[in-house]
Amino acid sequence: MGISPYEMMKEQLEKAASIMRLERELLEVLKHPKRVIEVSIPIKMDDGSIKVFTGYRCQYNDFRGPFKGGIRFHPDVTKEEVIALAGWMTWKCAVIDIPFGGGKGGVICDPTGMSEGELERLTRRFTYALMPVLGPSMDIPAPDVFTGSKTMAWIMDTYSAFKGINQPGVVTGKSRSIGGSVGRREATGKGVAIVTSEYLRIKGESIEGKTVAVQGFGNVGSYAALYFHRMGAKVVGISDITGGIVNPSGINVPELIKYVEETKGVKGFPDAEDMPKKDDILYLDVDILVPAALEGAITELNVDHIRAKYISEGANGPTTPEADEILSKRGIDVIPDILANSGGVLVSYFEWVQANQGYFWDEEEVDRRMKKKLSRATEEVYRTSEKYNVDLRTGSYILALSRIQEVYRDRGLFP
Ligand code: GLU
Repeated sequence: MGISPYEMMKEQLEKAASIMRLERELLEVLKHPKRVIEVSIPIKMDDGSIKVFTGYRCQYNDFRGPFKGGIRFHPDVTKEEVIALAGWMTWKCAVIDIPFGGGKGGVICDPTGMSEGELERLTRRFTYALMPVLGPSMDIPAPDVFTGSKTMAWIMDTYSAFKGINQPGVVTGKSRSIGGSVGRREATGKGVAIVTSEYLRIKGESIEGKTVAVQGFGNVGSYAALYFHRMGAKVVGISDITGGIVNPSGINVPELIKYVEETKGVKGFPDAEDMPKKDDILYLDVDILVPAALEGAITELNVDHIRAKYISEGANGPTTPEADEILSKRGIDVIPDILANSGGVLVSYFEWVQANQGYFWDEEEVDRRMKKKLSRATEEVYRTSEKYNVDLRTGSYILALSRIQEVYRDRGLFP
């Protein structure tokens, strides 16, 4: 990929800022992260050797509330990438209108080649290194690529042990037994399906019968596929690191989820054809394409092969600004990451509220509040885009930035 995620994020920010005439000095502030922490994480490996990993936490902006965002474990993590992702979290929390700023963390490691014990020691030592800057009103991590409820439990336990109190509000995406929320695990993917169907509804269309291709079958892609399937859409193609599968009459997603639990990948699923090249998933002739893997999936190099009518971004930053431009000219609507995948951090917010109060909601309550917030945000993004005659990404940035600007004006600049 030519352009770095941080450059992408700044380009998107500047474009929206100039169209809405955002205050110049505020734009300058927002182009920079408030704080980036780099730590080394020495841990004992199972073979007795000591290995030192590098981890980052970027606390991008906290005008609207404590820093919020996931932690990813991946070999390609870089400081720049974490900064970009933390910026995107800032805009995302503002689009969905929850009282959080944006943050993100990452550790350079290959979790697929590590034992559970090694991952636990890594997570606990990383948490220890970040102790002074974490907290329920300071910075609240969550799951991201290759992290999940187990990782969050280790963070919560380590933090609580050092503080000498039980502190479930320091992290979200925990299991229910330790103060998690019902519905958090599926929230990001489910939210992608809800936002997409809401957007179609606004456009006078229906999700039912629409064909869908999903790139990625992790935290986001698997639940996005499941909820599209449940809503009556036809999921015809899915890919993950092991390969891509396609079935024009619709993949049985619940069966595929069971299959992947056993085999650890979609490849070879009996009820579908294996694709020769997994990246061809992006070029299927479908109504809705959901890139739910990593940044930079759709660039100026492959955008011409895209045949979908709508793109709904399950991943953060899957489309480069150059590709965005071309898609927009071709009349392909891109429902941007900071709206499309905001269901995850939205239910994280619900989890934080519940954990801090020690009072927990049932599934219906979470579901009702989630749908209400997501459909409102989709409407607001749509209306903002219409008002300024811009694409949905720029519209969602304008919406987010106007909310951040309001806080900036009310709070003023210190000193
Ligand atoms: N990692 C998710 C995201 O990118 C969730 C973040 C959170 O819940 O704080 O939106």
